[in-house]
Amino acid sequence: RQRRLRGIAHRPTHTRDGVSVSLQANLELPEDVEIARGNGAAGVGLYRTEFLYMSRADLPDEEEHLATYTAMIEDLDGIPITIRTLDLGVDKRADGLTACGSAACNPALGLRAIRLCLKEPALFRPQLRAILRASAVGPVRLMLPLVTNVEELDTVLALIEELKHQLHQQGLPYDDALPVGAMIEVPAAALSARAIAKRMDFLSIGTNDLVQYTLAVDRLDDSVNYLFDPMHPAILRLIRMTIEAANSADIPVSMCGEMAGDTQFTRLLLGMGLRELSMQPGALLDVKELILQADTQDLRRRVAQLFTHLDETSPARLLDALNQA
Ligand code: PEP
Ligand code: MG
Repeated sequence: RQRRLRGIAHRPTHTRDGVSVSLQANLELPEDVEIARGNGAAGVGLYRTEFLYMSRADLPDEEEHLATYTAMIEDLDGIPITIRTLDLGVDKRADGLTACGSAACNPALGLRAIRLCLKEPALFRPQLRAILRASAVGPVRLMLPLVTNVEELDTVLALIEELKHQLHQQGLPYDDALPVGAMIEVPAAALSARAIAKRMDFLSIGTNDLVQYTLAVDRLDDSVNYLFDPMHPAILRLIRMTIEAANSADIPVSMCGEMAGDTQFTRLLLGMGLRELSMQPGALLDVKELILQADTQDLRRRVAQLFTHLDETSPARLLDALNQA
């Protein structure tokens, strides 16, 4: 089986009915790029940048960000990369920062990710400038984590315009068309996906946090992990709303949470209309094998049926039925 999977790594990814699907990798460390390339990733759909801040007492400056991104872009050799801005929080801590909500009662609901970045411009600006400068080196997209309202987006977009102006004045190159996207990982964002899609160049669904926040299940607490269920009807509806919002706005939508790399959901996600999935690089070939066998027209029809039964039948049973034939 391993040999067969290796054989499909560099084949184009399209379904039996000829629909092409972009399978991308999530990277947490620069080293992860090797497995991603070996497994034929079409891009990096999520580059987590928290590693730059972890296990150290100081903070990375603009040049260190830029050098790290440039090295990665060169390693990727023309394959596009989506760089996510700092997503520090209780699940990803930095020693050089105290403002991570660690003292709060509900740190997952506290000052983290985009909130922390907007509160601390000295933290955010060097990273944004570095991502802008990296966009002159190769194909880059910029992605914002934990967005909850459009004001956050407007603030970031204004900041990016200001930094572009600054770079221009300094004679430093950047891609003026750098795509900026939002992660949809808070229920409020999924419910406001239309307004978000109007402002953004792409959306990416982060199911790890979307499940945590929608189902009120701490993703780090083992005592409640039996409740952590991406098949909960509420989650499926939020995912569907997000896909529809992106389609109406005519912008790309991907999924980069763990759900995207779990083969039990591949047929479901194709049937819901997703054509871009980003996952830990080790999962790429298993998902690809299923995509090569899939028929999107058939799956579309069957998933539409599945949605009509969502409130009567257990979602696990519906998923089994979808995966059987
Ligand atoms: C997510 O929340 O689904 C996600 C991809 O981001 P992270 O796991 O880094 O919070
Ligand atoms: Mg997340």
